[in-house]
Amino acid sequence: MKILTDGKKKLNTNGKSDINTGGRSNGLIKNSDKAKPKWEYSKSIEDKKHIKLKDKYDLFIGGKWVKSKKYFNTINPATEEVLAQVAYASDSDVDKAVRSAEKAYDKVWSKMAPKERGKYIFRIARIIQEKAREFAVIETMDGGKSIKESKTVDVPLALAHFFYYAGWADKLKYAFPGRKVSSIGVAGQIIPWNFPLLMAAWKIAPALACGNTVVIKSAETTPLTLYKLAEVIEEAGLPEGVVNIISGDGKTGAAIVGHPKTKKIAFTGSTEVGKIIMRQTAGTGKKLTLELGGKAANIIFEDAPIDAAIEGIINGIYFNQGHVCCAGSRLLVQESVKEIVIKKLKHRLTSLRVGDPLDKNTDVGAINSLMQLEKIKELVQAGINEGAEIYQSKCDLPERGYFFRPTFFSEVAQSHRIANEEIFGPVLSILTFRTPSEAVEKANNTFYGLSAGVWTDKGSKIFKTLSKLRAGVVWSNTYNKFNPASPFGGYKESGFGREGGRQGLDAYVV
Ligand code: ADP
Repeated sequence: MKILTDGKKKLNTNGKSDINTGGRSNGLIKNSDKAKPKWEYSKSIEDKKHIKLKDKYDLFIGGKWVKSKKYFNTINPATEEVLAQVAYASDSDVDKAVRSAEKAYDKVWSKMAPKERGKYIFRIARIIQEKAREFAVIETMDGGKSIKESKTVDVPLALAHFFYYAGWADKLKYAFPGRKVSSIGVAGQIIPWNFPLLMAAWKIAPALACGNTVVIKSAETTPLTLYKLAEVIEEAGLPEGVVNIISGDGKTGAAIVGHPKTKKIAFTGSTEVGKIIMRQTAGTGKKLTLELGGKAANIIFEDAPIDAAIEGIINGIYFNQGHVCCAGSRLLVQESVKEIVIKKLKHRLTSLRVGDPLDKNTDVGAINSLMQLEKIKELVQAGINEGAEIYQSKCDLPERGYFFRPTFFSEVAQSHRIANEEIFGPVLSILTFRTPSEAVEKANNTFYGLSAGVWTDKGSKIFKTLSKLRAGVVWSNTYNKFNPASPFGGYKESGFGREGGRQGLDAYVV
């Protein structure tokens, strides 16, 4: 089915993807399509009275809250309301943070018995656990993701990473048998906006377990849970300067990368910035890990359990509004089952609930920022212009905030932009294949290589296919499953180095 309005293949310009839009009422942009479900869930809004947010956040440097010259607003993308002001770290603030991390490294952390370091990390994990609900609500308000996901994915996984690496702190000799390793020094860590607390945990926990100290910068649009983490670090009594938390933009990030005293850089973000960082660190001797973009193939063979695969497709692309570097954004479906897969996918979209991220029934929350919404719309328009067939969920959207209807394109050619570029939104591109070797060839036909999915009833086919896929993580008959004990990372332009698992320790030792 082509979704066209008045014969025009164009996205509407009201900030929503409301192709097929009727009128507005009750704060929702109404979609007039009759294929909508006939009943609605009652609202079940998560209570936010218990959360404690300051109006203004200073930088967390050397165990103290340090004022900066400039502050910027962080907003709730679901309501466009300002949540707090946060400090913008200048070059001199970065210098202060790095020096305090260096001092803490030289004087305390590198000298501390590994078992004692482990105790501090355990303490961080336990305090996050105690404050799990507050973390989840703040993550949802600052980033737009559904409360269901922050409660069941972001926060539990983040604290599990601290627990996991706390356990490694005094067992490093078992992680590197036959090799004598030592810590590196100050780790500069830069994270993106899609999983702020979780990305911070992926980076801070192994760094501390290996005896390094940290300067970490949050992304522009999602600084709040990192400052909550700073409060946890205070409460855990970590020696001052071991973890320094700052906020700012690309310039702040570049100052961390360029600082002569940061000996290790860990970056998660776009391939474009990853390349800049690689150039910036070339020849400096800094140890570098990059976790960059992706355009994962989710491969559905004709013998796959189709209903389970539909759930895997939905989870693969609409989880966290598609703001996931390992999202299954390219669906490769065997031609013989293409029609049934598309039919079932259309049906499944009717029950995917889009809306208030704080509503416990919401599946797909708000797009993280207006800028990201514009980028998604631009690429969706490119898909339409290039001749792919668009299908969008017919749900109503909240009138305020940044939302986009879950979308998929069929009849996608390999040359289309939507088959090659990372959209980082709830937009799936569907391509087809006839033989297993064609599936592998198409799956590998990308600059990226972060993840992939394989759906088939045959175990042998799974092993044969995944041994040929050039992707760091391959899920079979499931998608987007994470565990602190499993390493994660990419090939090609998706970066290098692994985070998670025993392998994740390697990035923080020499
Ligand atoms: P996205 O496009 O998804 O926002 P970016 O790669 O631009 O991804 O941003 C990821 C993180 O990298 C953010 O914290 C951002 O502030 C930071 N960043 C952006 N540019 C640079 C840079 N030149 N050097 C270091 N960090 C940067």
